[in-house]
Amino acid sequence: METGLHERDRAGVQDFVLLENYQSEDAFIDNLKKRFQENLIYTYIGQVLISVNPYKQLPIYSDAHIKEYKNKHFYEMPPHVFAVTDNAFRSLIEENRGQCVLISGESGSGKTEASKKVLQYIAACSGHQSTVEGVKDKLLKSNPVLEAFGNAKTNRNDNSSRFGKYMDIQFDYKGAPIGGNILNYLLEKSRVVAQMGGERNFHIFYQLLAGGDDALLTELRLERALDSYNYLSDGLKGNLSSIDDAQNFKQVQQALSVIDFTADEQREIFGIVASILHLGNVNFEETEGNAQVVSRDLVVTVARLLGVNASELSAALTHRTIDARGDVVTSPLNQELAVYAKDALAKAVYDRLFSWLVQRLNISLQARETRGARNNVMGILDIYGFEIFNKNNFEQFCINFCNEKLQQLFIELTLKSEQDEYRREGIEWIPVEYFDNKVICNLIEEKHKGIISILDEECLRPGEPTDITFLQKLTNKLSEHHHYVCHEKAPTHIQKIMLRDEFRLVHYAGEVTYSVIGFLDKNNDLLFRDLKETLSKAGNKIVRSCFPEQELRSKKRPETAITQFRTSLNNLMDILMCKEPSYIRCIKPNDLQSPGVFNDQLVLHQVKYLGLMENLRVRRAGFAYRRAYDLFLERYKCLSKSTWPNYKGAGGPKAGVQQLVKDLGYDNEQYKMGETKLFIRWPRTLFDTEDSYQA
Ligand code: ATP
Ligand code: MG
Repeated sequence: METGLHERDRAGVQDFVLLENYQSEDAFIDNLKKRFQENLIYTYIGQVLISVNPYKQLPIYSDAHIKEYKNKHFYEMPPHVFAVTDNAFRSLIEENRGQCVLISGESGSGKTEASKKVLQYIAACSGHQSTVEGVKDKLLKSNPVLEAFGNAKTNRNDNSSRFGKYMDIQFDYKGAPIGGNILNYLLEKSRVVAQMGGERNFHIFYQLLAGGDDALLTELRLERALDSYNYLSDGLKGNLSSIDDAQNFKQVQQALSVIDFTADEQREIFGIVASILHLGNVNFEETEGNAQVVSRDLVVTVARLLGVNASELSAALTHRTIDARGDVVTSPLNQELAVYAKDALAKAVYDRLFSWLVQRLNISLQARETRGARNNVMGILDIYGFEIFNKNNFEQFCINFCNEKLQQLFIELTLKSEQDEYRREGIEWIPVEYFDNKVICNLIEEKHKGIISILDEECLRPGEPTDITFLQKLTNKLSEHHHYVCHEKAPTHIQKIMLRDEFRLVHYAGEVTYSVIGFLDKNNDLLFRDLKETLSKAGNKIVRSCFPEQELRSKKRPETAITQFRTSLNNLMDILMCKEPSYIRCIKPNDLQSPGVFNDQLVLHQVKYLGLMENLRVRRAGFAYRRAYDLFLERYKCLSKSTWPNYKGAGGPKAGVQQLVKDLGYDNEQYKMGETKLFIRWPRTLFDTEDSYQA
């Protein structure tokens, strides 16, 4: 085969299945490392793609490369994200099976970049009529918009996704994209009001200040200096060399236009972003326990940008009205509560703006025609990776729970389903041991018993529940659980590093200590009624639609943050379960975000928790290729005289296939006959013999 663009893989094996010493972790790491050093960042385990972040631009994503991968057999070309995408795309078009590409790995490992390559490939390979081009353009342009509002610099990743994203692309029966739909998951909105040292707020704030033209900034009453704004002054001070905020702002503006946001909508969006910056600077003073706004002119600016009455906003920031079964009582807030209310407002406005953006994108992406079969859909999942920080809060708890669920899905869809199939088909099989993390999922989400239930109960309990009473309940109920570690029962060396307001979970990916401080508050996610009411009347149409009046009238208590998240995750699992998955497992080679550095220990840790060794063992022991007898016979009957043009012997397709593999000279080790399917160990042997007997 002429590859031209590719020097053939020079280092290691390109499929771990071919690794001689396949039980050895050292050999596994060694293979990854050798390849990494040759800029071969992709390796397979069967159909699963392992990708090691190179932290530098490699010349392997050009249009010429895309052409090379188009319509090739999966194993014919060196491993690549394009090969995985092509394979999925063809199953979708040719066999009409809904697909999803699941991308996992920890923060900074390359998930978002991989998801962009998948999209790039699809855009390049599918239909070129002008209507289709429009759809593709919008799909591609949705990325810079979502990244501007949903990504931020963290200490792990200068462009870290702070929300989860699942994108469906719909195709017509010819394989041309006709629309898309995005689901977003839990934005880390606490970042709007505070950031850790070395981190930043969401990109859009810096983009607007650096890239907005003078007229826009004057209109929004903004100054360019970052240190003018409290909400930008916590973390990293100043701009970042790796990010060109001004340039990115131009991109966002251009993208918004392509996705047909009107000029009014764009003005309102930036008005909201600016209002949050101003809101952050609003201060209060307290007299006799009552807070008053100090900086009235700022409140006037905020009010103007949101289109609300300034006096009403002022009052709403400093008062709280409670409607207790018809008894409406308004009382003043003290300074601390006023600051709390202000921050809650900023977070809620930003969070709802983000969800509004996604909904608005979806309206633009909606398929105009419905010629496609319903399941002609390809999903791409790019969700925040597992996180272990020095201090882990409610946000990390949610993110890591999500990763447990995805690992569970991986097990269900690959390890377990693989072994179940062998059992069902009556194929001799020595089960491979793997760690099933279901026990941890249950610890977190089981009804009445799990952490989420205990948290919700505590949030709803009358009396004075606090983070600490929540922790006590957890420990009372869960201290015997193998994956829950409380301070009292922790081994001495752990106890030394644990505080009394912390608990520790033994996740599949490692142990994480969580501080309970803020759990109740973040889970309740309270925005005082007075503020909601003010915003529900806003002149800024986006704000008004984000805070609908119905919400005020509803007597039902809103669901807690974690319960909403759990529900949306379980819905996602249902969506994914009925699709055919392709896996991209991303690995971060070092903690420095630098090219060329491969930290063996760090990689080994990821290889372990991603379950790659088990994945390989199951794959090795198993059969890479399988097909129902009738399908196989139909496809390959041309390879032998005794089956061409039809098999005439007794015993149906199974006997026909038996005859066919005998004629092809397969030895007993290479294949197995199941109840309904033929299993072949190496698909390659099949493709080698694919010259037709007819010819
Ligand atoms: P998070 O969970 O924090 O969102 P992530 O897994 O999505 O992290 P990315 O943002 O995709 O990580 O990657 C981090 C950075 O690594 C990118 O900004 C880019 O600089 C680099 N990178 C990742 N993949 C590649 C690649 N294939 N080629 C070149 N650089 C890459
Ligand atoms: Mg990301």
